[in-house]
Amino acid sequence: MNASLISDRLERKTAEFLSRTHRLFIDGDWTDAESGQTITVINPATGRVLAEVQAGGPQDIDRAVRAARAAFDEGPWPRLQPSERARLMLKLADAVAGEKEQIAYLETLDNGMPFSSGTRAAGLAAAHLSYFAGWCGKVAGEMHNVSQADMHVYTVKEPVGVVGAITPWNFPFVMAVGKLSQALAAGCTIVLKPAELTPLSALKLAELVREVGFPAGVVNVVVGYGDSAGKALVEHEQVDKISFTGSTATGKWIVRAAAASLKRVTLELGGKSPTIIFPDADLTKAIPGAAMQVFANSGQVCVAGSRLFIHRKVFDEVTEGVAAFAKALRVAPGIDPQSQIGPLISQHQLDRVMGYIQSGVDEGARVVQGGAQVGKEGYFVQPTVVAQTRREMRIVREEIFGPVVAAIPIEDDDLDSIARHANDTQYGLAAYIWTRDVGRVHKLAGKIRAGSIQVNGGLALDPAVPFGGYKQSGWGREFGAQGIEAFLETKAVVIRL
Ligand code: NAD
Repeated sequence: MNASLISDRLERKTAEFLSRTHRLFIDGDWTDAESGQTITVINPATGRVLAEVQAGGPQDIDRAVRAARAAFDEGPWPRLQPSERARLMLKLADAVAGEKEQIAYLETLDNGMPFSSGTRAAGLAAAHLSYFAGWCGKVAGEMHNVSQADMHVYTVKEPVGVVGAITPWNFPFVMAVGKLSQALAAGCTIVLKPAELTPLSALKLAELVREVGFPAGVVNVVVGYGDSAGKALVEHEQVDKISFTGSTATGKWIVRAAAASLKRVTLELGGKSPTIIFPDADLTKAIPGAAMQVFANSGQVCVAGSRLFIHRKVFDEVTEGVAAFAKALRVAPGIDPQSQIGPLISQHQLDRVMGYIQSGVDEGARVVQGGAQVGKEGYFVQPTVVAQTRREMRIVREEIFGPVVAAIPIEDDDLDSIARHANDTQYGLAAYIWTRDVGRVHKLAGKIRAGSIQVNGGLALDPAVPFGGYKQSGWGREFGAQGIEAFLETKAVVIRL
């Protein structure tokens, strides 16, 4: 299907891209996977094959890590002037911006997201590169006053070394570029292993890295399965740091595996984030806002506001409003110009989400809206609102990663009690508050244990804003000053004068 969003030129260019032999990008060039395996990439809007890509295995990871190691230990990258590193990163930002449409189209075909979301994500990726290019010359140590005479003490910030970056399938391009931007600005070299379900935009990224002229080995892209290429990257003794975004279960495994060589590890994991709506909120904004905070990207968002706490005074109005909004959302392939909600990523994810909805029904919850698959082709699910849930139900406790929200009444204005409900989860990634009461915002923000508090529709997705989770939502922060710090070591130099 060709829609008006996709020009003939873009269609032809993308068809050419898809028909290529997709190889691995190691040491500045394309190379065949030694594993001999391939991955069949499926378009989730149709269930049909989109492309075949070569799958890297442990030997390929080893080659990539050695290339990154050599580029770090002997190559120019960490030794370039910061301004020269920044210049290359800005060139890459321009290249990404210049190819925004094709990147968006690849994301739409591969991940399923609406084309407009893919375009925004590509724009955000370019913004990450420019923002972190600005950090290249701003990373600095400090002078330290010590209580010993004749001592001159300072610290130096140095790149942590070779970074293994492992990314998930829900926002493939921007996640990869986010990690790349921070690592490059810090002076690290990188081996990126994108999710096996959505490898295409990472291959496009490698193409742009090559065109822009990064030194060989600085950026390597090895597509492969988690339990083979991903595992090999985490276990490789020449990798200094793993920057991981994905499920909490894999994150825990990575921590255990990385312990063998005491690699640095940062983890961006799952969530079960609360949205809290007070009666004084502007409901004309809160209702669509809360709905899209969980339904966007078909709910396949780590910060999805999947537990919707609504003050009892407005419970019916908000629940009905969110249900009506959900009903009106256009669920369609991402290349449909009207599409607001694309498919889930895979048959497996569709089965999982439908299983969660069924488990809610079996345990006594009521489906207020949605609850069914859409169409027979692809993996579409209706945006779904459930009510009459209890705290012990799986749909209330576990991350669904689908367009499903539980509407839960809150009985009073006691902020401690509201925060207890909001915090009643193993996760702590985000929380959304809708109210006009500034005092309440500050008090409640202080009581909720989550890495990101978003009020009245404020979005935390900006390269300048630290992002990450409390509790089992992760370790460390990405982005902003804290993000770059996570790619640095601190060296103290102590001189007797
Ligand atoms: P996943 O953990 O299955 O896979 C993520 C990545 O890890 C993939 O590249 C995969 O190949 C790789 N992987 C799998 N097993 C591995 C292993 N043993 N060793 C090394 N790598 C391995 O997660 P997913 O299903 O692809 O992604 C969905 C999850 O990601 C959700 O739980 C979501 O909440 C989380 N997520 C978190 C954030 C965040 O910033 N906190 C952002 C997006 C997604």
